[in-house]
Amino acid sequence: MIKLKGIAAASGISIGRAFRVGSEEFIIPKQPIKQEDIPVQIQLFEEALIQTRREIIELQKRIAVDMGQDQAEIFDAHLLVLEDRMLIEEVISRLKKELVGVAYIFSEVLKKYIEVFSKIEDEYLKERTSDINDVGKRILRNLLGKKRSLLEDVKDRVVVVAHDISPSDTAAMHKQKVCAFITDIGGKTSHTAIMAKSLEIPAVVGLENATLKINTDDMLIVDGGMGIVIINPDEEILQAYQQEEQKLKGITEKFFLVKELPAVTRDGKQVEISANIELPDEVPSAKLHGAHGIGLYRTEFFYMNRKDQPSEEEHYQAYKYVAEEMSPSPVIIRTLDLGGDKFLSQFEIPKEMQPFLGWRAIRFCLAQPQIFKVQLRAILRASVHGKLRLMYPMISGIEELKQANKILKDVKEELNKEGIAYDKDIQVGAMIEVPSAAMTADLLATEVDFFSIGTNDLIQYSIAVDRTNEKVAYLYEPTHPAVLRMIKNIIDSAHNAGIWVGMCGEMAGESSLVLILLGLGLDEFSMPPQVVPEVKYLVRSVTLKQVQDIAKQVLKLATGKEVEEFCEARLREILK
Ligand code: PEP
Ligand code: MG
Repeated sequence: MIKLKGIAAASGISIGRAFRVGSEEFIIPKQPIKQEDIPVQIQLFEEALIQTRREIIELQKRIAVDMGQDQAEIFDAHLLVLEDRMLIEEVISRLKKELVGVAYIFSEVLKKYIEVFSKIEDEYLKERTSDINDVGKRILRNLLGKKRSLLEDVKDRVVVVAHDISPSDTAAMHKQKVCAFITDIGGKTSHTAIMAKSLEIPAVVGLENATLKINTDDMLIVDGGMGIVIINPDEEILQAYQQEEQKLKGITEKFFLVKELPAVTRDGKQVEISANIELPDEVPSAKLHGAHGIGLYRTEFFYMNRKDQPSEEEHYQAYKYVAEEMSPSPVIIRTLDLGGDKFLSQFEIPKEMQPFLGWRAIRFCLAQPQIFKVQLRAILRASVHGKLRLMYPMISGIEELKQANKILKDVKEELNKEGIAYDKDIQVGAMIEVPSAAMTADLLATEVDFFSIGTNDLIQYSIAVDRTNEKVAYLYEPTHPAVLRMIKNIIDSAHNAGIWVGMCGEMAGESSLVLILLGLGLDEFSMPPQVVPEVKYLVRSVTLKQVQDIAKQVLKLATGKEVEEFCEARLREILK
């Protein structure tokens, strides 16, 4: 039995068999084969090699025409890998010895080769690592058949174990097949973690080297709330976790009892509790958990896992569905927030040294108004079907806000001319997630109807700590005095200007921190659907006076740790 500690990304306990995912997009099952299957497996391998060779030669021809012979010759090295006798013989001999499917054996041999080559001092040989990697992936793709879905061969619900998983791969996971996932890298508010919460799949990230310690089929306990993974647990531990799983279910049921009731404190202060969604499919979950509305609809996921850009009609249909389903409750659609850790294949975006500080979100949209307008038109058109609101991500100053509003005005005028109806009073908001916006919230408040505080980014930018990097995760503190002071400034500025203010960062769904936010006067809390009942239960358990005192006290504390301990102690008292 081995116990690993990582970063708690999505809470819940799952017990299941491990399923290792390769460094690429392939999940390769370790399928046992019989002695008599060997010739068929060898034939499969040979066919994959021939097919790969054909592809590379074709590619070479195309490149020779488009870019010249020199460029095409680069692929000679790839062809050489295909003829590498040592590699081929090693695959065949291991296949005979281990009696496991050839795709798995090949991927293992490939891994070993890449490891050996990457350690070589000689620069020329070292460079061959990427050739081997490229060709290897082609061969694997051909061995597996191109269109296979990630978890096609999985029969039982498994725990996916990977070095890293992209947000879009996470979005493609199905709860029926994945009971939890764990990764070597990543932080608490990476979009991979956020997606896991939305799908209600327990997850632990930032385990550093879990992929070196876990093999496919190992029995795993994943405690997503504590960030713990136990490999091949003893019977006693297994039973303890099974009991804990039941206990958690009991607590959840208790929270569920209040889910349809308003989020009002014992002395009558009401706030709104809404849900964050990434896909329209999550609307039923938001409703099931008693969310008042949708406080953040991350529309960029709509652009993922596809080659083309969604048309205006596709946007419109998605927004119309969400608006109608949630009506009369409000739905806040956030305009495209690509970049950072969310990359979209349709757009030619150059690789950047610091993507989180780069050409992302509203910056990208203002530079590409033709893309931005498609989405704005669709949101406005859909606004007649319910109560839609829209907000811009990553606003850093008032000029950006004015520019975005100008484009919105142009789109409204176009619709007026075309005689297309939309909600003329649609509320427009700004996400406050950049320190410069937080410090000038009084100025920004004059241009919008509401703010939504994006703490996931606000924390990373304020403390200069990459939200996806497990090495600096210890510095990522929502309770840091600088963060709390900024939040206070944003809330006070909004209220002074007579607008309401919500929060859609993960902080809004953390019970102990809700106490502070409620005390600071936050009007709306938006969070992953499954935490809605818990936060509602908490709001209904306190008085405004009580939380205002908590807020006052924590603002006097000097470190994030002290604030955290203070709030956790108060939370324990309140929930007993
Ligand atoms: C945030 O930054 O807090 C936020 C809600 O947006 P995202 O997590 O999508 O960056
Ligand atoms: Mg953000």
